[in-house]
Formats: sequence, C-alpha cells, structure tokens
Amino acid sequence: MRRAVWRFFHNQVNEQGESYMLFTLSGAPREAFEKFGMPRNTAVFHPTFSGEGTVRVDDITKDPRYGKNAPHFGQPKGHLPVVSYLAVPVRGKSGEVIGGLFFGHEQRARFTREHEQLVLAVAAQAAVALDNAKLYENIKELNEKKDEFIGLASHELKTPVTSLKGYLQIIARNLPPDDKSKVLANRALEQVGKLTILISDLLDVTKIQTGKLPFTYTDFDVIKLLTELREILQQTGPSHQLLLNLPAGELIIHADSQRIEQVVINLVTNAVKYSPKADKVIIEALVINNKFRVSVQDFGIGIQPDQLDRVFSRFYRVENLASHMSGLGIGLYICQEIVNRHQGRLWVESTYGEGSTFHFEIPINTN
Ligand code: ADP
Repeated sequence: MRRAVWRFFHNQVNEQGESYMLFTLSGAPREAFEKFGMPRNTAVFHPTFSGEGTVRVDDITKDPRYGKNAPHFGQPKGHLPVVSYLAVPVRGKSGEVIGGLFFGHEQRARFTREHEQLVLAVAAQAAVALDNAKLYENIKELNEKKDEFIGLASHELKTPVTSLKGYLQIIARNLPPDDKSKVLANRALEQVGKLTILISDLLDVTKIQTGKLPFTYTDFDVIKLLTELREILQQTGPSHQLLLNLPAGELIIHADSQRIEQVVINLVTNAVKYSPKADKVIIEALVINNKFRVSVQDFGIGIQPDQLDRVFSRFYRVENLASHMSGLGIGLYICQEIVNRHQGRLWVESTYGEGSTFHFEIPINTN
C-alpha cells in the first residue's frame, strides 16, 4: 500500500537558537522521525521555517537542496522514503511562523494545487487555534503572577497595619475622655479595623487558592453566637435595624465558629451596604432536615437574574456598582468556600430593585 505521511511542527527555539520541534505526525511510526532527533533548519525546509512560503515538490530527492545536512544526508535510515513533498508554514496573527505542516508521499507528484490550497486553509485554522492557545497560556501565567502578588502584598501589609493598630489603641486609651483628639483617634482605629479586614480577606483568598485556608472545628451554641453577633453588628451599622428571628433555646453545632461568624458578618454587611435606602435587615435561623440554615434578607437594590451565580466568583462585582459602593468582590467567594468546607451550601434569591435574601445551610454535625 502506498503511504502518505504528514507531520506538524510547532515552533520552539532550541538551545542553539534554531526553531521547530517535531510535535505530532501521522502515517508513519513516531520512531522513524525521532531518528531525526530535533528537526533542524535544513536547506529543504528553510522556506517553510522562515515563513517564506509553501514548498510543493514532485520529487524531493531531485531537489538541489535535498540531502545537504549531516548526519543523515537525506532520509534517516529506516525512514519511510518521501518523494512528493508539500510544506506549508503556519503563521501567527503578527506574521511570525508558529508552526509548519509537512506532507510527504513515497510516490512522485502526489500533491496538486488543490491539495496545497486545502493545506493552506488548514494552516490558517491551525494558526488561529495556536494563537488562542498561546493567549490562554499567557493569561494563565499572568493570572498566577497576579495571585502571587496579591499574596505577597497582603502579607507585607499585615505587619505595619497591626503595629499601627497597636499604637493607635495606646494613644486612644491614654487620652483623657474629654480630649477632642480621642474622637479622632477612635475614628482612625475604625479605619484601621476596616483595613485589617480587607487584608485578612485578601490573605484568605490566597489561602483558598493554595488550599491552605485553616479551619478549627468545635462544638458551640450557634444561637448564642448569632445573638451576640447581632449586638455587635447593630452597634457598627446603626443605619439599619437588624431584626433577628431565632429558634428558642440553644443549638449546639460542630463547626468553625469564627468562620461561621465571618460568613454572617459578610452577609449582613452586604445586606446593609446594598440597601442604602432601606432601614432594616432580617436575619433568620432555623433547623431544617438536620441542617442549620441562616437567611439574611435585605430590601435593597437586588441582583439581576443573570448575575445571581456570578456574585460568588472571585473579584466579581456587579457592573456600575464599583464606582459608588466600595468592595473588592471577594467576600461572597470566601463565604462560599467556608460553607462548602462545612459540607453546606450558600445561595441567593433576589428580585431586582426589591431586595435579596442570601441563605446558607450546614449540617448540624459536620466533621
Ligand atoms: P463586595 O461587596 O466587596 O463587592 P462580595 O463578594 O461580598 O464583594 O459581593 C460580590 C458582589 O455581589 C457585589 O459587588 C455586589 O454586586 C453583589 N452583592 C452582594 N451582596 C449583595 C446584596 N445583598 N444585594 C445586592 N447585591 C449584592
């Protein structure tokens, strides 16, 4: 049976600064080509390597450029004899050669003009695919660098901000109660507190990315936790009345109390932030199917249906909000991770323009 072979070279630069490496082939055993070692910029391949254009030859063995390269001087031993030869460069968007399609046949004059046209069309498609793949690789690399930078920056910020907080606390404590500067020192402390939360959220994101977000599980009364939390949150956000509906008595759950607190704080803070014209937020807790569920309802701007799932993505913020409502778009991402790690789920229901309810539920006895 007469055989045709084809090869695809993808552009790589070797240590000698030469391009091209055998990438894939069909119609011949890979070993036959591996005898070439790293394909080199031989004279016969040159027009394709350099992107000068297509080479279509009826009998490559008669080509004056053929067999000029040591050590093979033609076909490597044991290699399928190639007589007809067709080679087409694959050029990227900016014209650089990113690969090449090479076809060979053991009979002479097997490749026609139509074949050439077809291969040119395939090469154009391959170029688009390769360009996109390269672009994706670049984006992935940049994204990793960005994550690395966020991790480093937040880590570096942590120490000076912690010292700043300590000094401000000493100053505020030492000022007499009637000193006007005491109010300013306390306001500065409030701002440092916000900064601390931002930094710790950024660190949490980095830890989630690297799979190192720590959890400490204990048994605690979640009803007590919510009651105390409401008190604290009410003091810090007096613009809205925080209404709490809880089951009576105590409810012991096995979970990370600080992380659960973090989720509730995030949801309530968002509820207040995204309902600037409303004056109340309802926090409800109940037990359903051996799961503990918390719902935080606001009467604010709401979320459009197509955005509902996206709000849980890292750094995602609903468009047009960024300019007048501060935030980094990581709170819900962290909340989701925390709830997932408790084998629970977090979801949202919303009517655009009327308000949103965020719910999360976790099994009462998670381990
Ligand atoms: P941030 O609030 O810092 O932007 P989050 O991750 O907490 O980050 O929230 C992501 C996005 O989800 C917000 O930017 C906002 O667009 C939307 N969102 C969150 N909570 C609410 C809410 N209660 N009402 C309306 N939109 C909300």
